[in-house]
Amino acid sequence: MLADAVIIGGGLAGTALAWALSRHGKRSVLVDPAAAATSSRVAAGLVTPIAGQRFVVSWGYEEFWPVSRAHYAALENESGTALVRDLPMTRLIENDREAGFWANKRNTLPRHLWRDLSPEDLPPGIDAPLGGMVMPGAARLDVPGYLEASRRILRERGLCRYFDGRVALPEGLTGGPGAWRVDPPGVVAPLVVFCQGFEAAGNPWFGGLIFNPSKGEILDIEADGLASAGTLHRGVWLVPEEKGLYRAGSTYTWHDTSSIPTPRGREEIVGRLERFLRLPFRVTGQRAGVRPNIHGFLPVIGSHPALAGLAMFNGLGSKGSLLAPAMAGMLADHLLLGAEIPREIDVRRRMAGERP
Ligand SMILES: Cc1cc2nc3c(=O)[nH]c(=O)nc-3n(C[C@H](O)[C@H](O)[C@H](O)COP(=O)(O)OP(=O)(O)OC[C@H]3O[C@@H](n4cnc5c(N)ncnc54)[C@H](O)[C@@H]3O)c2cc1C
Repeated sequence: MLADAVIIGGGLAGTALAWALSRHGKRSVLVDPAAAATSSRVAAGLVTPIAGQRFVVSWGYEEFWPVSRAHYAALENESGTALVRDLPMTRLIENDREAGFWANKRNTLPRHLWRDLSPEDLPPGIDAPLGGMVMPGAARLDVPGYLEASRRILRERGLCRYFDGRVALPEGLTGGPGAWRVDPPGVVAPLVVFCQGFEAAGNPWFGGLIFNPSKGEILDIEADGLASAGTLHRGVWLVPEEKGLYRAGSTYTWHDTSSIPTPRGREEIVGRLERFLRLPFRVTGQRAGVRPNIHGFLPVIGSHPALAGLAMFNGLGSKGSLLAPAMAGMLADHLLLGAEIPREIDVRRRMAGERP
């Protein structure tokens, strides 16, 4: 079987790339084992404009979120499925130290990204005596919904064939520049792109990258009487689903690459929720996945330094929803039109040990 490209891995990265290649008229084969507990299938899909202990604007938010959001909105129209919604996020100030950081930082941040919130404006049941700030530009992507809608439409239009399986590497990739062969499913293509998430740490062709995978756990929560229309964040986030149902998370356990939920993860999230939620709540479910972080916490994309036709798309970390479609577009332009990749995210430089 021949194709224009083989994409190994069908999470946010591989799926967004199939779309980006299709915009250049290229037809892909996407190989993925359809495992339930991958980073993309577990992710909460939150897009957070200002994040971290020191209130930093998320890398690429201003430049790339409009690109990614437009992609999701277009698919939403085509598929008739609700995928992305604007969902303000309230960051509750945790303690005096954080209040100090915020006081120093707030006026240096673009004014449209935040507004202050006093404790009196919080919904009943939320305890945050130091108040907080609201990010009106936050959003949420239904990531499994995006993967499923993409699969259906890409297949229907003949733009991508899906193969539910795993490529055993290195023996599953043979041939060479011009005609790479991937087994299974037995496809020959001039282009093979690795979109393997944290599993790319063992990729034999793209050595030299320093992976810092982090396991994350998420809880399903039932909480009656909470009237929050958006996401609340204080050490952990609490995001509304249907009436009375929420998701809460997530934990960061470094270098644990198992996707098995743990009692410790559950206790950590419950403990943090209890610091600001003054309503009874019940845990009804738990899941875990592993984020693909690469040293520097930026995406890493581009072509192999020596082997023409091999490429990588990785490092989405905890920002897959914000970045995947925009990065996929950049990678496709590079692979098919020769466009330059920004230095800080170019896989060739990162393999050579350059810091972002
Ligand atoms: C608990 C948790 C919460 C998160 N919350 C958010 C959030 O709120 N917002 C946000 O933007 N991001 C969030 N993330 C991160 C986000 O999920 C990732 O950025 C994104 O999913 C990474 O996508 P990916 O395609 O690179 O990797 P993955 O989703 O891991 O996909 C890689 C795929 O490649 C497949 N694969 C690997 N090797 C092979 C092979 N040899 N052959 C075939 N297939 C292969 C895997 O099975 C997998 O399906 C969260 C992650 C976790 C774990």
